[in-house]
Amino acid sequence: MKNFKKFWKLGREEFNTQFFDVSKDGGLVVKEGNYQYNFHDLVNRFNSPLEVVFPFIIEKRLNDLMQTFNYHLKDQNYKGRFYYHYPMKVNQNKEFVLSLISEGANLETSSYNELWLVRKLWEQGQFSPRIRVICNGPKTDKYLGLITELRDKGLSIIPMIEDLNEYESLKKYRGDVGIRLCLDIKIKSHWDKKFDRYGLISEEIIDLGRIRNLKILHYHIGSQVIEQDDFVRAAKKAMEVYIELKKDNPSLDTLDIGGGLAVPYEKKKSYNVSNIIKKIIITLKRESEQAGINPPNIICEWGRYMVAPAQVTIFKVLCEKPILNGAAKKWYVIDGSFINDMIDTWAIHQKWHITPVNNIKAKKLNRVWLAGSSCDSDDRYTAGGTYTLLPRLEDIDNGGWQYLVILDTGAYQDPLASHHCLLSSPAKVIAQNGVITVARRRETADEVGRLFGW
Ligand SMILES: *Cc1c(COP(=O)(O)O)cnc(C)c1O
Repeated sequence: MKNFKKFWKLGREEFNTQFFDVSKDGGLVVKEGNYQYNFHDLVNRFNSPLEVVFPFIIEKRLNDLMQTFNYHLKDQNYKGRFYYHYPMKVNQNKEFVLSLISEGANLETSSYNELWLVRKLWEQGQFSPRIRVICNGPKTDKYLGLITELRDKGLSIIPMIEDLNEYESLKKYRGDVGIRLCLDIKIKSHWDKKFDRYGLISEEIIDLGRIRNLKILHYHIGSQVIEQDDFVRAAKKAMEVYIELKKDNPSLDTLDIGGGLAVPYEKKKSYNVSNIIKKIIITLKRESEQAGINPPNIICEWGRYMVAPAQVTIFKVLCEKPILNGAAKKWYVIDGSFINDMIDTWAIHQKWHITPVNNIKAKKLNRVWLAGSSCDSDDRYTAGGTYTLLPRLEDIDNGGWQYLVILDTGAYQDPLASHHCLLSSPAKVIAQNGVITVARRRETADEVGRLFGW
């Protein structure tokens, strides 16, 4: 008897699948305490494509992260505090943002429209003035106006100076400000660029001398950072600037290390997050001691890491087609689109962990590539030129359908989604406390047509 749970890499904390299990009849389930959600039941009820969100996973991940940071701060006798700021751009859906702020997250916005949502929450009485909001992104007059408006209403809003014009505009800001450092450092990730355009270089920052109400030095090294040591190297380099800047700016007391922590999408390698955190803390402490200053409070904005594992996307296999001379033997055509709804797949060959929703105990599997439903030849998933394993379609009982689920789809999907071939976006349901609620119905043809002026 094969261990199906192990085979599909379910129930593994280091891969964020500890809540996933296989039911007796070979169905994929997620367990929230004593509640259990069966994916096959969900697609029978809500149809596919379907996104399923698990707020309890978000809350658990945030609590784990805060605990780990606080554990190491204490363990290292570090005289500074930790704050988590959720970068809203990663997923602005309300159930994500509310789950996080209710558990103690602060926020980071990247645009006027995101900050506008903060104002909306505040007007609805759902936003505590204790939650701090860091404002990144180009400060248009509109954005600056809203920053000032919210700060005057008593919210804790900290704009980040990202260029010299913003420095001028924010000179009179009556509240804490931060400044963003463009670290000249090479990072191993899909997105690392030869030229980084965000923030100011260290010489520009130091040349400013005294910056009114300066509280935070901020940097962001990239996303899905592969090498754990890159976080430590970056922290060390940023501390050099912090120490220099602190000479003219005694109010500076916080280092914001940005985002970047990776998600083990492929379930092959896992990251020792506790160890990364420990090393960052040790580095900041050592550099501060050597310079004879208090160690900075630490902000992190790990976004993808926080929310990707809290959502999955389910598709139906519509049919199969033969592949001649490929690493895989068959195309499985799905009822959704990688181009539209699994955004990085075609562009940068994002890899995913894919398991069956039903028939998980099938003994015979096909080596497949997945084909999306749009008519774009890039709308496909080939697992980087290898293959994905899924049950044979002829083994499905009673003329039913084979469904598959793609894990870790909670980050950077909805805001970047599109409507190629006017396909509808997946419907979205929230699973919480044993109850399923519909967060987004499947769009009708009329609704999609309207986006195009029909
Ligand atoms: C995108 C971004 C983040 C989040 O990055 P992740 O890779 O999702 O952790 C955090 N901070 C800033 C400034 C960003 O631009």
